[in-house]
Formats: sequence, C-alpha cells, structure tokens
Amino acid sequence: MDQNKNMVKPITQFACSDCGMTYKKWTGRCDGCGAWNSIQEEVPLSQGPSKKSLGTMKGKRMALTDLTTEETPPQRTLSGLSELDRVLGGGLVPSSATLVGGDPGIGKSTLLLQAAAAFANAGHSVVYVSGEEATAQVRMRAQRLGLGESSVKLAAETNLRDILTTLEAEKPDLCIIDSIQTMWVDTVDSAPGSVSQVRASAHELTTFAKRFGTSVILVGHVTKDGQIAGPRVVEHMVDTVLYFEGERGHQFRILRAVKNRFGPADEIGVFEMTGMGLAEVTNPSALFLGDRDAPAPGSVVFAGIEGTRPLLVEIQALVAPSQLSQPRRAVVGWDGSRLSMILAVLEARTGISFQGLDVYLNVAGGIRISEPAADLAVACALLSAREDASIPPETVVFGELSLSGALRPVSQAENRLKEAAKLGFTAAMAPKGCKTGDAGGMSLRLLPDLITLVGEVFGAG
Ligand SMILES: [Zn+2]
Repeated sequence: MDQNKNMVKPITQFACSDCGMTYKKWTGRCDGCGAWNSIQEEVPLSQGPSKKSLGTMKGKRMALTDLTTEETPPQRTLSGLSELDRVLGGGLVPSSATLVGGDPGIGKSTLLLQAAAAFANAGHSVVYVSGEEATAQVRMRAQRLGLGESSVKLAAETNLRDILTTLEAEKPDLCIIDSIQTMWVDTVDSAPGSVSQVRASAHELTTFAKRFGTSVILVGHVTKDGQIAGPRVVEHMVDTVLYFEGERGHQFRILRAVKNRFGPADEIGVFEMTGMGLAEVTNPSALFLGDRDAPAPGSVVFAGIEGTRPLLVEIQALVAPSQLSQPRRAVVGWDGSRLSMILAVLEARTGISFQGLDVYLNVAGGIRISEPAADLAVACALLSAREDASIPPETVVFGELSLSGALRPVSQAENRLKEAAKLGFTAAMAPKGCKTGDAGGMSLRLLPDLITLVGEVFGAG
C-alpha cells in the first residue's frame, strides 16, 4: 500500500567515472563508453523524484511569450586573446558555464591564468580559485608568465560552501575553478573527484553563474585510471565545452570547442607553448607546414577547414611489405575506420590492393583532423606511397570520397584555395563541382572520380 516506505532506504549505485553512466550492479566494463575498471560505487544525490505528482494548483502561472518576440543577442566579454575569444564564439557570455578539459600537464592552468589576467586587464573583476595549488604557487606561476601586475584575485580552496559564500560577496564577472575534480560539497557523502561530488559541485557552480550573472569556467582533467571522474560527466551541465589538446613532444596546443550554446562548435584556437606561457598563433597553416621535409612519396598537403578558418596540414603515408598475417593499419591524427574505408574503396574501384602491406598514416604536427574533406588527400597520400610517385610539392588536395569511388564536392572550396595561394601553393586537386570562385589564381585539376585520379595523376590503373 504505502510505496514511499521502500524509497527512503538509501540505495547505493555504481557509476562510470569516464562517462557517468549509472548501474545497479558493479561491472568490469562500461557499456556506455567501453572503458575497463571505470565503475565506482556512488552514493546517490537524492532519493530521486517523488512518485506523487506536483499537482496543478500549487505553482505560479508563468508568463508565456510567442516566437516573434525580439531576442537581443547575449552581451560578450572579450579577453583580448583573439584565439580564445574565437573559440568561445566571440567572447565570454555572462551567466554562462564553460568547461575546459584536457590531459593533466597539457597547460590548462597556464592558459586560464593568462585568460584571467587578460580579462582583468580588460577591466573585469576576476576570481581564480585553485584547488590544486597553494596561492603562493599560483602567484609564482603568474610572475613567471609576466602577469604579476594583474588584478586577478586568488584563493586556494576546495570547500564549495566557502567558495560560494566568497563569490556571492565578491560578485565577480568571471570565476575560474581549477579544477572541478578537487571541489567538494559537504552535503554529498563521497570523496572529492567521485562522480557525485564532481556533478554536485558543477551543479552548484552553474546555478551560481545563472543567478548572479557571473561567467564560470571549470577546469576538468581528463583522467585515465577511473579513480577520479572525468570532465565528460559534467559536459551536459555546462553551456560550452572546450578541450585543450596537444602532443607533449610538440610546441603547439589546440583549444577546440566541442559544444557551444552561444557559437559554432568545432572552432579551434591555436597556441604555441613558449617560455613565457602560451602565445597565440595567428597563422596556424604556416606553423603546421613550417618544418616540412623535401617532397617525398606519400606526402600530400591537405587544405582543410577547422571551424571557420582554413588550415593547411601535411598528410603522410607509408606503405611497406608486411611480415604479419594481419597487416598493420596505424593512424595518427585521423579516424582509423575512415582509413579502412578508403583502402576498401581504392581496392574495389581502382583494383589497387593494399593486401600484404602495412599502412601507416600520420597527420604531421600532431593535429587531429575529422573532416571528410580529407578523404582525397589521404587517398592521394596512400597512392603516392604505394606507387612511389610524389605529388608536386606546390599542390594542395581536398575532397570527399564516396563508396562508389566518385569524388564529392566539399564546402568552402574558395577559402581553402585562398589560404593555399597565400602560403605560396600554385596548384590544387579537388572534386568536380566545387565552387572555386577565381581559385586565388591557382591552377585547378577538378576530378570526377578515383579512376580518373589514378589514371591522370599516377598513370596507373
Ligand atoms: Zn563509461
């Protein structure tokens, strides 16, 4: 009869620290993201919603508007770091919550300390709360970066109740929390870094942002071991999700928007790690092509678009006889299953087989490419490596490949060509039907399909 009696009992549950998926029982592998050993026991935040309806007579009547009401675009705060402002979609929006995720040690704290100083120098009040380092350490880092004079207010704290009390009194324009995994809410009975603590802390902070008009930036470490919840568990709670990427061995770092309620997703900002912190890279194509080797078979320059900006990168392929019964397919910086698809299309439509051959594909510089427009450049790199025939070094390539072997036109062809022309390229290979405009004065080779490419460019068939 009385169903509520059963619900008061606190139920333990299990949650994946990678993606936040919850389970009734412990399992070794997460169904949500496939991670092993990432399931941790969690105490639920509440007993969940009550079975009884809220009823229709208890609330206040809301004011409803129609769709014709004029909406003013959100006001934006510019940091003056143009690469950061661009990724944010044209500056920071008040009352917004932004998550900046990335591997530990990649430079998130450096970037955000520089951003904090930039916003402070632009006349905004900024509070930087570090749960990772003492204020003296943060101050030393700031001085090393030449930011010692900025008016950023620092605190080293992890108790969210104290942080919120301080923020409520200060009412800053911007608050940076470094990192969300060190924060804890005293009403939640689990250790900092657990899925429930990270979620509860993020919820408190995003609610604070909405109520007081403060922009909140949360730093989240991408975790590997599953003991600590990763930034993915709060992605759905924030307005903007940025990931800070880069290879340890490379100087440059990329800030990539993967979700943005106030601007385009997929936008990237490029930075270079220097002794004085992160420097903006205003011409990333020049950076990525900077240390290009002499033209060799297997090397092709792809004219890509990242967000709203053209970006030239070198794609390298190596094809070698395999000693293995299952030849190797190794990809760095591109999608492995997309490589398999292109190899299959090449074999099926042109008869050029990669059987018994190891295939290595690398996007030079360590950047990750996700555009399908890179298909043709990858196919050219593979064919060039396989046939031992170089593509002329002053040529750029772009275009999407369909399973039939036809080449599909891609968007923003004119922008791709202009960027290539600006960097001294004189020729381009692209699918037939691309809107190329005046092509920036380049000589164009527009191809309908793979057969034509193989016949005309590689003289094979
Ligand atoms: Zn998972």
